Amino acid sequence: MRPKPVILVVIDGLTPAMLEGAIASGGAPTLARLAEHGTYRRATSVFPSLTPVCLSSIATGAHGDVHEIPHLVWYHRRDGRLVEYGSSFGAARAAGIGKTLRDTLVNMNAEHLGVGAVTLFETLADAGLRSAAVNFTAYRGRTVHRSSLPFLGNVLGPERFYFYNLFQSERTGAPLSFRNRSAGTIDAYATAVGRWLVTRDGFDLFVFYLSDYDYASHELGPDRAHDVLGRCDAAVGALADAAGGIDELLERYALVVLSDHGQTPVRHVASLQRHYVDVAGALVCASNRAAHVYALDACALDPRQLAARLDAEPSVELALFREGAEAVARREGEELRFAPRPQGGFHVAGDASLLAHPDAPARAWAALANPNAGDVLVSATAGWEFADLGGGHHLGGGSHGSLVAGDSEVPLLTVGVDGDPRSIVEVAPTVLRHFGIEAPAYVLGRAA
Ligand SMILES: [Zn+2]
Repeated sequence: MRPKPVILVVIDGLTPAMLEGAIASGGAPTLARLAEHGTYRRATSVFPSLTPVCLSSIATGAHGDVHEIPHLVWYHRRDGRLVEYGSSFGAARAAGIGKTLRDTLVNMNAEHLGVGAVTLFETLADAGLRSAAVNFTAYRGRTVHRSSLPFLGNVLGPERFYFYNLFQSERTGAPLSFRNRSAGTIDAYATAVGRWLVTRDGFDLFVFYLSDYDYASHELGPDRAHDVLGRCDAAVGALADAAGGIDELLERYALVVLSDHGQTPVRHVASLQRHYVDVAGALVCASNRAAHVYALDACALDPRQLAARLDAEPSVELALFREGAEAVARREGEELRFAPRPQGGFHVAGDASLLAHPDAPARAWAALANPNAGDVLVSATAGWEFADLGGGHHLGGGSHGSLVAGDSEVPLLTVGVDGDPRSIVEVAPTVLRHFGIEAPAYVLGRAA
């Protein structure tokens, strides 16, 4: 029997506690119905737990060491410039609005996403299966699409590709996405496209990406965006309506519902740059609850010295760096050394409490092995956020990016799909297995 097409629903920034609470209280009736028919668990995100990094992991099944997207903001060593994927409007203005748009909308997929990583869209196209995606920012595929904005040029995406009205492979009648974000017009656009696709049964895989929840949770705080969660639930309900009801939806499709990262409250904001003002060639790329510190050519300090500068900084829980064949996690001058064991797992020497976060050694190791990573990676203390390039932050609201559990745990619901993914990097291989397609070699290597 031909496997059912899969709908992969990604609700950006949704925490397990919010989803579990809404299911229990009746605040998410559609997702509750899906959960009755499927398997729910909490899963782990990647590090840094920031959307470009996470969506790249969901698309490819890889950590940052393979997909090479290191952060919302990072230093491109070969091009000798900053890349900013839109931490905030102020950060985009500081990096250059045109550059930020081009990096976010085009270059992340066309140039930055590692050539050793393979997206679901690419693998399925190679197997003769049809993919569709709406608003999903890690979209690299095999089909050429031309933008409605000529200066963006052509990109390679899934066969059916809808991206904030900038790329639309067919006319769906969906409304303009950017009319009024806080009123939900971006997800309304995604929902209109989704309804159109389900009505036509036009895919083997449909990645349905809802971004408004994260936006609201940043503003209101991680446990307050009930209204937007209700809207996300209704968006999934709209797909069910297009199929003729929940039972018909489940008859026709398998579903995976997850978020890309969590969120935690922001009570204090810090700037890390002040620790390096006297160091030529030390560059801080900070946003949300993670940062990279780069030692450019002129920098006289080594990674250990750069990390030690943060020993007394309350916003820094961990400064991580590589030293020889090992990695070091440093907190207030205390150190833990770790490295992967040949037989699997990690060798850890020192105070293990330093890395007592979900799957922390593997996530930190992969983040440090990202060729675009800084020489020091910084994970924020609970309650703290780092100001971005434009001084932006979410004081009084929510944020994410660190190794702590609240930023790192995600809800993950599978319906009609075999397997028990426990990390967002296990979603792509789970979907491929559903279609009888072998996962990329880097996934098989990780499992062995
Ligand atoms: Zn966010």
